[in-house]
Formats: sequence, C-alpha cells, structure tokens
Amino acid sequence: MGNDIDISKVVRQHAQMNEFFAGDFAVKGESVLLKAQMQADEAAKAELGKIAEEVGLCRSCELGSSRTNAVAGEGHPNARIMFVGEAPGADEDAQGKPFVGRAGKLLDKIIIACGLKRGEVFIGNILKCRPPGNRDPRPEEIISCLPYLQRQIEVIQPEVIVALGAHAAKTLLETNKAIGQLRGRFHEYCGGIGQAPIKLMPTYHPAYLLRNYSDENRRRVWEDMKKVLVELDIPIPVAGQK
Ligand code: URA
Repeated sequence: MGNDIDISKVVRQHAQMNEFFAGDFAVKGESVLLKAQMQADEAAKAELGKIAEEVGLCRSCELGSSRTNAVAGEGHPNARIMFVGEAPGADEDAQGKPFVGRAGKLLDKIIIACGLKRGEVFIGNILKCRPPGNRDPRPEEIISCLPYLQRQIEVIQPEVIVALGAHAAKTLLETNKAIGQLRGRFHEYCGGIGQAPIKLMPTYHPAYLLRNYSDENRRRVWEDMKKVLVELDIPIPVAGQK
C-alpha cells in the first residue's frame, strides 16, 4: 500500500474538529476527503478479496485437503483494530467465517462492550484452515500460512492488533513467552522492511476465557481492551467503566 498519508486518520481528525466547532466553520474539503476515504476502502477491499481468493485455493500444507472451507478473515478493510486468533474451529470451517462459534459469540460481546460493531473491526487468524480435532497449529503450517496474514495486516494497516491467545501473540511477536507474561501491555508487531511497527495488545483467547471463566480473567481481558480504547482515543462505554 505504501501510502504516505493516513487517510483514515485525516478523515477522523477532520470529523472530530467539525464536531468540536459545531458547524461554525464550513468545511469545503469534507466531501473530497470522504471520497478519498471511500476510494481507499474500496482499494483495500479489492486487495483483501484477492488474498481471500488465494487462501481459498491454497494447498501449501496438509490442512488444505482436510478443510471444508478456508477462513480468510472478515471485517472493515481499513479497520483501526484487528483481532487475530489462532485457527478456525469446526463452526468456522463449516461456515468459512472467523469466530462464529462459542468463542466467536464471546468475542462479539467483547467488541460490543467496547462500543464497537463487528463490521468496524477486522477479524482474522494465524491459520486459515482448521487443524483436525482443533489441535494446536504446527510450526510448518504457521510458516506456510503466515504470509497471508502479514499481507492482510499490510493492506489494512490497523492502528492496533489484538492478539487473542498464546499462538497469535507468540507468532506475531516472535517470542516464546507465555500469554500471562505478555498480556496487559502493548508490544510492537514489526511487518516487513519499510513498514511502521504496529501496536499489539496480547490478551486471553475467548475460548480460554470460556474454559477458565472467573471474574479475575474477565477483568483482565477487559483491562486489556480498555488500554486499546484509550490508545485509540475511543471513549470507554460507561457500562464498561466499572
Ligand atoms: N478460535 C480461533 O482462534 N479462531 C476462530 O476463528 C475461531 C475460534
């Protein structure tokens, strides 16, 4: 993509300024900026579509022959937040969409608690195909699949990546540290040469939260998400401030 100007940011700042001045200033450039934003969204959408097509045809590892559907990921092409999970499960494999099973329903609730809509964020995974029996991803599978995610990140250019669980956090941060050690603070995801680092917040995977539900674990995930909202200047919904 390599755009020097972050159009989403310009449009957002513009809208904030407009709101602040309550319409006292006629903003002539507004429609031009919105048009530029829409064009940027369309270009990113087309690029993500190409990646999804390639994912759908991919046979780079053995998961390509055991899957029902590949799950490329879905969401806003210029999302400010990108959630990255581990790999599709049975429901995702059946529907070809990420996070649509039990863990997905919990992720939806987390997104809504943040005052956001699912369509405003992007949701993807480290692996695009389901490992049989939901076993852990194998290193060779991660190696063949990761370039798709790296390209998606490059296209979307999110301001924050939320790594859901140990596999996503360890893979994107190239570390062996445990999720308990990583979560709760920002790290940096470093893409390819010439790409600006992206803030990455590791947190517990919703499936882990379902399996190990406690007020403490729920509070930890919410604390992590509040840090993301603060970083993005998104107001924390009142109901979530407790
Ligand atoms: N768990 C994941 O990591 N990803 C999904 O898409 C669903 C469940």
